[in-house]
Amino acid sequence: MLGAAGELASAPVVILAAAQETASLDVTRRLPLRTIAGQITEMPATAESARLATVVTGKGYVAPARRGRHTVGATHRFGEASTDVRAEEHAENIAMLATLVPNLFELARAATLDPAVLAGRAGVRCTSPDTLPIVGPLADAAAFERTYAPLARDASLDLRDPAPWLPGLAITTAHGSRGLVTAMLAAEIVADALESAPGPVPASLLAAVHPNRFALRALVRRERRAPA
Ligand SMILES: Cc1cc2nc3c(=O)[nH]c(=O)nc-3n(C[C@H](O)[C@H](O)[C@H](O)COP(=O)(O)OP(=O)(O)OC[C@H]3O[C@@H](n4cnc5c(N)ncnc54)[C@H](O)[C@@H]3O)c2cc1C
Repeated sequence: MLGAAGELASAPVVILAAAQETASLDVTRRLPLRTIAGQITEMPATAESARLATVVTGKGYVAPARRGRHTVGATHRFGEASTDVRAEEHAENIAMLATLVPNLFELARAATLDPAVLAGRAGVRCTSPDTLPIVGPLADAAAFERTYAPLARDASLDLRDPAPWLPGLAITTAHGSRGLVTAMLAAEIVADALESAPGPVPASLLAAVHPNRFALRALVRRERRAPA
């Protein structure tokens, strides 16, 4: 890996897993990563609301009280990357709770809470245009276009040329709002790809999350747009 001052580090295998920052390198710049900022609210529990024994999910979620507070969330700000905690997003979470579990909203006396003084945390989710994670080995973008250029003329061609992989490089990113669920399986996919082992999921699923899918779709779209 090179920086302005020369070599920063070298390793036989590099796995890029830096959410939206994954696209900040020359080799990854074409990845269409998007951001969704979001915020959770720490809602003070009352003796009655603390009886909630399980997480309730739907449009949002609320968790059982821990250290005297329920976690309520989360907001979605598409295209934003700010991590500022905002009163209006606390208000949005509290309003969501009123429709998710009206009874708990009453028991927590949520209508009396002042969003301006509530605690919470804001973060940024990284996602992709088709909202699936981006997981697997990476090909050299320019060489990929050259290798598969015939697909821009005829998308039905069955090309057998191997993709121009960047050896030892893999990525796992764009886990969106479900990364706590998808990241572990993604790690298995990456490990198997680097070991040339069969993946832990069917080939159709590997293709659905493959980092090359956007470059491939762009080539095929060019074929569709070309005059007959
Ligand atoms: C408000 C909110 C609520 C959420 N709720 C849920 C939920 O209930 N369930 C769920 O499954 N998911 C939830 N998520 C989504 C979940 O947090 C993400 O899907 C998950 O964190 C993605 O994991 P990641 O490792 O890909 O990215 P991240 O967790 O964003 O980690 C990326 C890491 O890369 C590091 N990094 C960035 N640039 C560099 C660099 N140049 N060099 C080195 N390191 C770098 C960052 O510091 C960071 O540690 C929520 C997200 C938000 C914002």
